[in-house]
Amino acid sequence: MKYERVKNFYNGEFVDSVSTGDLDVISPVDGNLLSTVPMSTADELNMAVASAKAAAVSWGEMPIKERVQVFFRYRNLLEQNSDELTALIAEENGKTWDEAKAEVDKSIELTEFACSMPQLVSNEVLEVSRGVECRVEHFPVGVVASIAPFNFPLMVPNWTMPNALVLGNTMIMKPSELVPLSVIRMAELLQEAGLPDGVFNIINGGKDVVEGLCAHPDIEAVSFVGSTRVAKLVYQQSTHNLKRCVALGGAKNHLFVLPDANPSMTATNVTASMSGCAGQRCMAASAMLAVGNVDPIIDQICAEARKIVPGKNLGAVISRAAKERIEGYITQAERDGAKILVDGRGAVVEGKEGGTYVGPTVIDYVTPDMSVATEEIFGPVISIMRTGTIDDALKIENANPYGNAAAVFTQSGGLARYVMEHASAGMIGVNIGVPVPREPFSFGGWNDSRFGASDITGKSSIPFWTKLKKTTTKWNPEAGINWMS
Ligand code: NAD
Repeated sequence: MKYERVKNFYNGEFVDSVSTGDLDVISPVDGNLLSTVPMSTADELNMAVASAKAAAVSWGEMPIKERVQVFFRYRNLLEQNSDELTALIAEENGKTWDEAKAEVDKSIELTEFACSMPQLVSNEVLEVSRGVECRVEHFPVGVVASIAPFNFPLMVPNWTMPNALVLGNTMIMKPSELVPLSVIRMAELLQEAGLPDGVFNIINGGKDVVEGLCAHPDIEAVSFVGSTRVAKLVYQQSTHNLKRCVALGGAKNHLFVLPDANPSMTATNVTASMSGCAGQRCMAASAMLAVGNVDPIIDQICAEARKIVPGKNLGAVISRAAKERIEGYITQAERDGAKILVDGRGAVVEGKEGGTYVGPTVIDYVTPDMSVATEEIFGPVISIMRTGTIDDALKIENANPYGNAAAVFTQSGGLARYVMEHASAGMIGVNIGVPVPREPFSFGGWNDSRFGASDITGKSSIPFWTKLKKTTTKWNPEAGINWMS
């Protein structure tokens, strides 16, 4: 085993869990055992929450300009430790070096945004009648939880942690049990940056720990990123327990390709979107709606896909179970009568035979009833459905229960605008295959891709991580008396 058993982190210390029945942490790159991760006990969860609660008052009362200093240092530490973090992400998640490095770079951008919070949450004051002032101030909500998925071991924890902490909250992080290593370095770097003990805590585990977080009386807010099935459970459990919750779920992102699209730009974008991070992005292209005759573009997509080689410019999928699930979808599509134009099944990387790879896969003549058309595959697979009109394509996209992202490829502003207006998704790309909004804009889908009122990052996260205090003040006796005061 390359690393020691994963520890929990609370009161500023790494603590060994007393639990038994650890899960193995396996590198998808080569199948080697990296570590084991404990399924922490209810007592340990209580200790982590107590640690966050004890730190909440002094951290929450610290002026925001003081809190933010820690994050200027943390941002620089991310940069200084970029290579080490990149290697760790690649090892535990299976991404290529460049993809893992992008995750570190994005974590830096997220932290930079958090560092701008003092400018964004400057409070408001207005003289509402003669001598009478109303002021509105942002207060932290208190102890908050963040539950993360496997596909971005560092970036998703940095979607929530810097904003929540700069805004004065203390946090319990629950990483995915498949990739628990990167957040350990995150905690170490925060400590090095001078974060007071107890402000950031980590509790490892699975379903039981998540349910414990959703039920804990001292936790005020729960943020979740993962599959729709679990997002619904987390949203239901935490709101049932009267907590605020934002829960981001899965996705089935549709790309509309119109006949006037620029062929090479479209082909490279579609291929990069469906295969980047081995298709394990909630923003990945999963279905392509070919409107009219776009055969030359489909030919170019296949040519681009054939340039992608597992183990070189394509990383691994997270586990053997994921590889089997993805290959199962491709086989099912073939049985259902679709045509496999590029087939990624059975990929093996020489020297890394224990790794779990699926090659890029392009499936044509998919019909809207097939499982590859409706379900999230979460692998490097694109399902092409052919339609005669944009409205037929929109009907297919609108009927899908998810709504994370959609994109349109065309050179016509009017047609792009039509798709932008009518696609039922929270994040739209025009000639962009992975339309992730960059800070200060916020990230979040629609429909079954997000539950809760706010997005998870950017400016829209501010109301989620804060509550407003409204104070009305009158000092001078000669101040106006009217119907309000
Ligand atoms: P997952 O739902 O299996 O796990 C997410 C978290 O929930 C993990 O920490 C896990 O331990 C916990 N969990 C798992 N089963 C649980 C249960 N029954 N009860 C309570 N907690 C449980 O998701 P994953 O496989 O780690 O991640 C992939 C999924 O995440 C995909 O569906 C992907 O689309 C989605 N995702 C969405 C976004 C977004 O922004 N919408 C971003 C990243 C990933």
